[in-house]
Order: sequence, then C-alpha cells, then structure tokens
Amino acid sequence: MANKFKPETLCVQAGWTPRKGDPRILPIYQSTTFKYDTSEQMARLFDLEDSGYFYTRLQNPTNDAVAAKIAALEGGVAAMLTSSGQAANFYAIFNICQAGDHFVCSSAIYGGTFNLFAVTMKKLGIEVTFVNPDSSEDEIMDAFRENTKALFGETISNPSLEVLDIEKFARIAKAQGVPLIIDNTFPTPINCRPFEWGADIVVHSTTKYMDGHAAAVGGCIVDSGNFDWDKYADKFPGLCTPDESYHGLTYTKSFGKMAYITKATAQLMRDLGSIPSPQNSFLLNLGLETLHLRMRQHCVNAQKVAEYLQQCDEVAWVNYCGLPGNKYYALAQKYLPKGSCGVISFGLKGGRETSIRFMDALKMVAIVTHVADARTCVLHPASHTHRQLSDEQLIEAGVRPDLIRLSVGIENAEDIIEDIAQALKA
Ligand SMILES: *Cc1c(COP(=O)(O)O)cnc(C)c1O
Repeated sequence: MANKFKPETLCVQAGWTPRKGDPRILPIYQSTTFKYDTSEQMARLFDLEDSGYFYTRLQNPTNDAVAAKIAALEGGVAAMLTSSGQAANFYAIFNICQAGDHFVCSSAIYGGTFNLFAVTMKKLGIEVTFVNPDSSEDEIMDAFRENTKALFGETISNPSLEVLDIEKFARIAKAQGVPLIIDNTFPTPINCRPFEWGADIVVHSTTKYMDGHAAAVGGCIVDSGNFDWDKYADKFPGLCTPDESYHGLTYTKSFGKMAYITKATAQLMRDLGSIPSPQNSFLLNLGLETLHLRMRQHCVNAQKVAEYLQQCDEVAWVNYCGLPGNKYYALAQKYLPKGSCGVISFGLKGGRETSIRFMDALKMVAIVTHVADARTCVLHPASHTHRQLSDEQLIEAGVRPDLIRLSVGIENAEDIIEDIAQALKA
C-alpha cells in the first residue's frame, strides 16, 4: 500500500490489498506450512534466493500484512511482528549485538525492558549503560565505548511519563555511528513518528494502544531503512559479512534497505521463535483499524482527567505532559503536538495508604496490570509491580510510593471523573 496515504487511511487500508475474488477482510492464515510444486522451489526459499512462505515460525501472510500496515504507519521500509513487546525489544538489540558488545540506553524505560537489558542480556554477554535522558549531549556521549552498537530510548516512558528529546538522541547516535532505537509504544505512530526526528529503528508493544482492547499480547520492530550499516561494517559483522547459516549470503549486499528486518526474520525468528499466532495478528489488525480514532479520544479524556485531578484538594501532584507547567510540556508540544497518550500518574496527599484506599473505592475504573486499552484502569506500582521494593528503593527506581498510574480509556470523560470524584471522597 502506497505510503502517500495519511495515517487515518493507512490504519484502515494498509497491509492487506485483496486481488480479484480475495476476501475483503484480512484472512487468518491458520496454517503452519505452505505448499510448493517442486523440490527446487522449496530449496530456493531455504537459501533466501526466492521469497515465499514455507513455515509460520519464519513468516506468515496474516502476520506480514499487519507488519506492513505498521511499517506504513511509521513510515518505515519493513517490519516484523513478534509474540510480545519484550521479544521485539530483545530482537531489536540482539539483531546487532552479540557477546562482548555494549549499548547505551535511557534510564527512563519500562521495567520489563530494564530487566531484560540489565539482567538477562548481561547473561548473554551484552552490556548496557543507562543514562539519564535529560543529561547533556556530552554526558550521554561519555557512556559510549569502542564496542557500543546502539542507543535506545522510549518516546514516552512507562510508567514515569518522561518525554524523550528524540532529536538530541538522534544527533548522539549519528555522531557515534550507531542506530537509534525508539520504543514508540505509548504515543503510537498516530501521535509521533520517530523516523521523522532521526530515529533508525522503532519498536512497539502492540499489546497496548495498537491492539487497544487488551485482547492480544504482541510486539513489532520497524526499520526506517536509513541506517548505513556498510559504512560501519566492522561494527555490524552480522549484517555486513557472510552468514554461514545461509551459504555465505551477506544481508546488506543481498537485501539493501531490507537487510535488518530480513536478518531478524531469517535468523532470529528461525532460531529463537517468538512469532505471533495469526489469530492474534488478526485481532491486532482490527485494533489498528480504529487506532487513529481511539488515540484522539484517549488524549482528549486524559487531558480532561489530568486537569480535573490538578485542581482537587486531595491530590498532591499530577504528572501529564499535556499540562502546562509539566517538566516535559515543551518537549511534548514539539514531538507530540496532537497529544501524548492516555496515561497519567498522580499522588494523593496522605501517601501510600490513602492511595490504596482510593483505588479500592473506585467502581467503574478497574485495578489491573495493564495500560493503554479502551477501559480506564489503575495500578499502584508500590503495591503491585514494584511491591518487593522499600520506599527508598522505590524512589531510587523513579517510582514514588504514592504514585498511582491511571490509564484513561475511551469512555465518556465525565463518567471517569465522576468515579474518581466519589473515590476521592471515600
Ligand atoms: C508493555 C511494554 C513493553 C513490553 O511489552 P509486552 O507486550 O508486555 O511484552 C515494552 N515497552 C513498553 C513501553 C511497554 O509499555
């Protein structure tokens, strides 16, 4: 589907383009395998000399249609779906890093990603240095080493809601000769397209707004096609030198701008799995069809709820980048002019105990370990996701003991506010 269409049209139309007599709706290719007429045809697929489907662990037509839609939305050249956001983040780094390599990462990132990078990837021999994203360019540059292969950050961090200065990060990555990888889960391409600000690769947990209905866990990696791997060939041997597991084929030579995603599919998916089920991709596609409508309503509602909370006597503080006076207001105006997302954090006077009583008193708004779907929900990280930490450790981790994460849904904003108001009174 041509990228000339605007995002709203791409949400509805991109990815699946039926031909004569094909189903109008993206079909679920619920098949592990695909048929060929000759042994020779099949052999060419295994050598990556021909493109075509043969086994769903590597590629599946339903998955690929949805990946193509997300690639179009982000303005990238290619994308690969994964079974979760965690798998997307892992593969995005592991596709270009191996034991002995290092990358630099913003410290304002999702807790699951933090653990993956700091603990699990370390066991694979890949080291990470976390930097405060608000530090100066020079300070962040100091974290780079000979063996640094990537720079990573989140457009809007979950749950601390810090807005990344993507252009600053892109300048640093460019100066250091490494790709900038951005987790764009919270704003989605409807509210921010990191490639337009110099990012090279975008990752998503599609579990959040893209699916939007809390129906299917999933992830996605999109490549802009802009990073010149061959210019830094000795840094990226996996892309720029022959792959013995494909008879000495070199990804950059054979696939040009498609090299990064082709390697991720042909090598990482082949060896590690983590493909989404076609059924989940079908559900993700349904979600994407209304992403533009939902994001708009999430932002309108969250702005109203944030403004309401700000003037409540019971509320100690509110963090939402759409509020003038927020630390990230100016960056949000620049990178997220249409709105940020539906997630707000705030604290109540009285701290941890009051927060728990407030949440228990909510009627419509549900307590769940999720964010970014159609239904408004809350989570108290100090009691839930971060419950093993002491108050001191919480503050160190950037999670205040009284922090309530509120994911504003697409119900009527007045009903959401009414539920909050009655719970505050209780
Ligand atoms: C949820 C989330 C992830 C992890 O995604 P899963 O789909 O839960 O594996 C990664 N990054 C961000 C920003 C997230 O919010």
